[in-house]
Amino acid sequence: MTVTVRFAPSPTGRIHIGNARTAVLNWLYARKHDGRFLLRLDDTDAARSKEEYARAIIDDLRWLGLEPAAIERQSARLARYEAAAEQLKSAGLLYPCFETEQELTLKRKARLMAGRPPVYDRAALKLTEEARAALERAGRKPHWRFKLPEGVTGWRDMVRGDVEIDLASLSDPVLIRQDGGFLYTLPSVVDDMDMGITHVIRGEDHVVNTAVQIALTRALGGEPPRYAHHSLLVGKDGSGLSKRLGSLGIGDLREKGLEPETIVSYCATIGSSLPVAAHADMEGLAEGFDPAQLSRAPARFDEAELELLNARLLHDMPYDMARPRLAALGIAADKDFWEAIRGNIARMTEAADWRDVVKGEIAPVIAGEDREFLARAAELLPPEPWGEETWKGWTGALKEATGRKGKSLFMPLRLALTGKPHGPEMSKLLPLIGREKALARLRG
Ligand code: GLU
Repeated sequence: MTVTVRFAPSPTGRIHIGNARTAVLNWLYARKHDGRFLLRLDDTDAARSKEEYARAIIDDLRWLGLEPAAIERQSARLARYEAAAEQLKSAGLLYPCFETEQELTLKRKARLMAGRPPVYDRAALKLTEEARAALERAGRKPHWRFKLPEGVTGWRDMVRGDVEIDLASLSDPVLIRQDGGFLYTLPSVVDDMDMGITHVIRGEDHVVNTAVQIALTRALGGEPPRYAHHSLLVGKDGSGLSKRLGSLGIGDLREKGLEPETIVSYCATIGSSLPVAAHADMEGLAEGFDPAQLSRAPARFDEAELELLNARLLHDMPYDMARPRLAALGIAADKDFWEAIRGNIARMTEAADWRDVVKGEIAPVIAGEDREFLARAAELLPPEPWGEETWKGWTGALKEATGRKGKSLFMPLRLALTGKPHGPEMSKLLPLIGREKALARLRG
């Protein structure tokens, strides 16, 4: 049986770091088992679903490197859900209810006051044929509830271990709204069955849904998939992240200049027993992935950690991987340049600053008291060709000639040659800058 998983966002917004984590965990699982990773757009809510969001989700996944094997849309499968609903109706498992929102609220309150759980009382099941016909004649349109079976539903969750939920503690779920629209539950179950989903990996906010979905799968004659419910992201202080998620869209992180591997690595390792680390090789990451590594405790999201991870990824990034990204930013760069500067950037865009130092124009920083020293340095610049040892030979000669050493020897040179107090090793930068530019900068 081919491992088949799905990432099932509703296209009612763009994906943020929280959804992306679900996508990443599914993708890793599929990769690890040579399986299939599907994108399923849960777009039965026609009023809120938008094509622009669907496209953005597809783009964001592609950018992250999580290419789905197929893209399914629930809006294209309504006939299939109608058929499943008919099947349940004829088995007496999907029944029409006529209560208004208001009536339901009153019922809930009454039960709570009586000290009973606020579950639906199944009054609609007790309606006589005549009463039902009268309601319909009066123009009332039903919504439809699934009749949950008796007893406890349990499963062995790949993250949480054995989970048991007493179905008596739940209301019969509404599957079809009064306007005939399907809520998420039935389409999801039908799709999981039809698409051969073997493992459902999603957030723990769906644990209760799972109990219902297992019951519904069985009612439709199917075999439930395996489930894994990962914990949710919280802020680094432990507070909920939901309000901040708006600014943590994958599109926003991309615009901030983070690399896709940074985000995937972060999503793969936070909230797990693995150390948070940057992985350039996503296949390797998949190799070592196991949902059992995921902790049940909430995963703490820290944007600073994400930034740090990005810097680490760049520091070790091979030239072949960096080259197309630099090119996309319009930064012409050869291997020597990349290897000289990669340890000093936290975002790829910063490579442009070093490109200017090496190839373009900068404003040399020269303090009054260093003018004479720098003039001497210019005189002592050796002829080209230059290599990594040039810097050592040159500054050695300069030390001898001027008596300067340490910071007072090196810092004025760095400031004049690069315009900055920090940066890559000068022994690597100097040959990239070249004699002509170096001379001009030393002379201000
Ligand atoms: N559309 C649902 C959501 O985004 C899918 C949940 C699931 O079954 O994975 O929460």
